[in-house]
This record gives sequence, C-alpha cells and structure tokens, in this order.
Amino acid sequence: MVITREKPALLGGSKVFPEPLPRYISTSFQETEAAIQVLKSGILSDYIGAAGLYFMGGKQVRTLEEQWANYFNVRHALSVNSATSGLHAAVIAAGVSFGDEVIVPPQTMSATATAVVMANGTPVFVDHEEASCCIDPEAVEGAISTRTKAIIAVNLFGGPAQLVRLRKLADRHGLILIEDNAQAPGGQHQGRWLGTIAHLGVFSLNCHKTIQCGEGGIVVTNDDYLARRVALVRNHGENAIEAENWYEDADIVGYNYRLTELQGAIAQVQLQRLEELTQPRLKIAEALDQGLSKFKALRTAKVGSGDRHVYYTYPIWIDPQQAGLSRDRFVEALQAEGCPLTGRYVRPLYRLPLFQKLQQEGKTIVSHPTGVCPIAEKTYNETLLSTTLIQIPGGIDLVDRFVASVAKVLAHAEELSRGKDK
Ligand SMILES: *Cc1c(COP(=O)(O)O)cnc(C)c1O
Repeated sequence: MVITREKPALLGGSKVFPEPLPRYISTSFQETEAAIQVLKSGILSDYIGAAGLYFMGGKQVRTLEEQWANYFNVRHALSVNSATSGLHAAVIAAGVSFGDEVIVPPQTMSATATAVVMANGTPVFVDHEEASCCIDPEAVEGAISTRTKAIIAVNLFGGPAQLVRLRKLADRHGLILIEDNAQAPGGQHQGRWLGTIAHLGVFSLNCHKTIQCGEGGIVVTNDDYLARRVALVRNHGENAIEAENWYEDADIVGYNYRLTELQGAIAQVQLQRLEELTQPRLKIAEALDQGLSKFKALRTAKVGSGDRHVYYTYPIWIDPQQAGLSRDRFVEALQAEGCPLTGRYVRPLYRLPLFQKLQQEGKTIVSHPTGVCPIAEKTYNETLLSTTLIQIPGGIDLVDRFVASVAKVLAHAEELSRGKDK
C-alpha cells in the first residue's frame, strides 16, 4: 500500500481525507409529508394534564406508541420528550426515592446517572467489562446493598450489555432493571430486542441517534403498573390519581415530558425506516472489522451469537504498547489525516464535579476516588477511541481510505511518538 510510505499529515504530509465529510441526515420526503399533514391539521399537541382520554395524548403520539409496541413486541410503549425524561420517569416508576441506591456504569452519557439524582436517589458506580464497556454483572452483584432499588444497564455504542444475566440477578434480589437503550434501537441480545429484556427500557429519538424526531424518547415495559407510573410522571400525574383511584401513586410528582403530535408523526416514519437506516451501518462495520483485523494493536467490538450490534458509533480499542504509540497521539494523527474520529468517549461520570460534590442532608453521598473503576479509567485514559464513519453517507466507499490512514499512522508510530516529545 503506497499510502503507508507517505508522511503522516501530522508530520507535514498530505491528508488522506482532504475533503469535508458529509453529515448523517436520517429524514426524507416521507417525514416532511407527515409533518406537513400535522401542521395542516393545526393540532400540534393534544395532551390534557388531567384524567381522561387526552391524559395519554393525541392521535399521532398514540399511533407511534402502538407501532413501537408492535415493532418491539412489548406490551407498553410510552413516548416522552427525551430519553433523559424517559430515564427520570423510569427511575421514579421503579420507586426510587431518598436514600435508595441505583447501580450504574461509569462510562455513558451523563443522563444515565443524573436521572437517579433527579429522583433523589444515589447513583452507585461500578466498573464495566473491558470487552464491551457495558456494566459488569459481577461488579453489580458485589455492589448490591440493602438500599439498592434498581440497576441501569446501558447498551453502549449500539451493542448489548449482559442483559439476560442482569435480569436474572435483578429478579433474584427483587430489584428493577432499567435498560438505557438510547444508542441501540434495533439491536438484539440472545435473539431478543434490546430495550425489552429489562423491566423498563428507554430509547432516544434525539438528533444524533440512528432514528430521531429532533428530540424525543420512548419508554417500554411489559408491566402494567410500571407503565402507569411512567404515564403519571410524563403528564402531571398528581391531577389524575383521584379520578382513577390510584392512591398508591400519590408519591408521584408529574412533569411535562410530553412529545408533540408533530414529533409523533415524524417518529412513526422513522420507525418504519429503522432497518433501512441501520443496514448501511452494519455493512460499513463489517468492512471495518475486516480491514482493521490485520492490525494486532487494535481490537474492535466482538458480537456474540444471537446478538446484534447496531453501531451508534464504531468503537476501537488500541493497545498502546503494541502500537508503539499512545492512544491520544494515534487519535491526533488520524484526525490530522481528516479521519472522522471522536477520540475517547466520556470521562468516567463519577469524576464529574456534580458527582464528586453530590450531597444530601449535608453528607457527601458520592465520592469516588480516581481509580475506583480501574477498567473504566484505563479505557478512558489509554485505550478507547471511536469513529462515526459508520453513519456517514457513502461511508462504505471510504473504508479503504480509513484503513489506509490507520496503516500509515501505525507505520510511522515511532516518529509520531518522538514528534510528541519535541
Ligand atoms: C443520547 C443518550 C441519552 C439521552 O438521550 P436524550 O434523548 O438526548 O435525552 C441517554 N443515554 C445515552 C446512553 C445516550 O446515548
């Protein structure tokens, strides 16, 4: 490969990707049509914050929920205005309140853990598995205390956590398992849809996800009681409990977490197109798996049999010793080539000032010294990077160049490392 011998862009060579890469856009004329119909009707939202038919919203959101429940073969699907709202509602539905602990992974979008704080609970961070960056069931088991109420597992990057094991563990201890499935609609674990294996599952429809309606989310569950509590949190539930005789839910403060009719109509089309929008990602991921397999210093996601990864983003792990190059320098060099790389994922959440300072009744309730989750720390500091190539339109035609940039950078590892010292 000729590119390998060329000078890396970081050392003054020319870029492998000189052109700006196109952005992922998931909507088409079909979503435009659906939105126009709603606009023409003039009914942009159709909720009423009191008991009665409109407590559950209007035609578009209810149709979306019915279609979502059918698609994922689940009893209840409740739309909300974001996955963050959905996680908050799920945690409240699980009964989490003052003094209750919820076990969460450290490497995820912050809302996974802030949802617990919003419900007055205490997040307890435990380490993830090195292979997947999803929560480690053994670490979860070790962290269960008399105060534990729930566990949140995140299907990170579009791949499954060990949900069947976690569900068994939760059931054995009388805990509620919540799946944060914001990144993995259409993914599977042991032949079952992600989002539906836990007691509650939360999807996101925000603009960065594979399917979207700008902002939005869906909570799914097979449990009637949990579904009712999510509906109460979503729409001023305090007004509805008397009419319905739901006095056991008098603990609930309702919010306005309602999705609009406009978003509901757009999300219906996006759901129909989920598979169509997922397929190109899978093709690019397969080509990347193959292309990157020749580099001993790199590892990509392993997908178990019966599992389906849907690649919200494509994770890559580097062994810096074997590469002769630090992860950060590797990322810097690839970015200089114009590669679509996002570098490390989020900082282990317990290191955020919020969690370091989190206090209740004057006591610090979360104070994790650096290193408390050693695998998450190592992943964040040394090994993980990811590429959004899987979502770029026409990305399949860029895989060879992506692999060539990696080859070029690794071939110049020593020089690039030295360049760093100067
Ligand atoms: C995107 C995301 C969320 C939040 O989704 P919103 O719909 O933006 O609130 C939560 N958890 C994870 C893992 C996410 O990726």
